[in-house]
Amino acid sequence: MERLVRSCYKQGGYVFAKKAGAPAHGEGDMRVARLASNENPEPPSPAAIAAAQAAILGANRYPDERVDVLVSALRAHYGEYTFVTGVGMDGVIETLMRTLVDPGETVAVSTPTFSFYGLAGQAQGAKVIPVPRRADFSVDTGALVRAGKDAKIVMLCTPNNPTGNATPVKDIQKVLEGIGGVLFLDNAYIEFSGIDYLPLLRKYENLVIGRTFSKVHSLAGLRIGYAFVPAWLQPFYLRAGTPFTVNSVSAAAAAAALTDKGHAARYITQVTAWRKRFSDALTYPVLPSDANFVLVDVAPHTSDEVVEKLATRGVLVRSCRSFTGLDDHYIRVSIGEDWENERFVRELNAL
Ligand SMILES: *Cc1c(COP(=O)(O)O)cnc(C)c1O
Repeated sequence: MERLVRSCYKQGGYVFAKKAGAPAHGEGDMRVARLASNENPEPPSPAAIAAAQAAILGANRYPDERVDVLVSALRAHYGEYTFVTGVGMDGVIETLMRTLVDPGETVAVSTPTFSFYGLAGQAQGAKVIPVPRRADFSVDTGALVRAGKDAKIVMLCTPNNPTGNATPVKDIQKVLEGIGGVLFLDNAYIEFSGIDYLPLLRKYENLVIGRTFSKVHSLAGLRIGYAFVPAWLQPFYLRAGTPFTVNSVSAAAAAAALTDKGHAARYITQVTAWRKRFSDALTYPVLPSDANFVLVDVAPHTSDEVVEKLATRGVLVRSCRSFTGLDDHYIRVSIGEDWENERFVRELNAL
């Protein structure tokens, strides 16, 4: 019966990070340092937990289809922008592709980057065109504009996963002015960067900025994402979306999380301090990062070799072998709690 499956799903798919609970033996210390998925190591804000507990009491009812509790909280936090929401930013990306892309149309992706853009484009039957970054991982704006002339959507991650670097606002402007379709700016890590792309929304009608509650807000398990969109796009996005995708418990928790500024600030402080400590303490080159992770060049080892060895010592990090356009000697390491980061430094340097 497998012949019935679409050819694009007969192989491939999303590559997940190593799970905790996998090999963590040897040292007698059974705690595992979980540095593979760029999560905030702190549990969710007490305000988010309380809101989720209150919301579940009404879970016999369908959620509000406009997700008003969250959209209102986003407006209170950021100002009068137009928002859409989704099941993680991944859900937002999927719905945006569904809204704009017909089979055979083009999606251009600045690579190496997050693999889900390509998968979401492919699900829509799009022609996905990778546009390689320069050797220092800065965006080749000329090449991206050329590829983006005929594309429905151009996907650009900043700060970029997995390289960690952010793209300057003036380069984003060049892309916005040169392409024929929409620019999707993935800002999953923007809170760690000090850069602000929001003023561009006032000037450009073809800019969408995606955000998530999975990283700085400690809500990865609740699957909440959103985007700043131009006003013209919102009604079509709502029409294309699966009914009631964002559940009422997640929406309430996310709205409450926005009010706890101390929670986010604590982790941002931790990230800023440890980005420097990683580059000072590691004997391997650490690339400059504007995100809550660093890319480490582990040559002459391969990424998989190092990931396997660290896992046997109770440290989970991300192999970058699966990132198209990146050589096979990088690992991506999230900034976790002190003991996790310290163990990682000790074990990598000891390899
Ligand atoms: C983590 C991440 C996301 C967010 O994913 P969610 O679906 O919101 O959990 C989006 N883009 C990038 C580049 C990421 O690393």
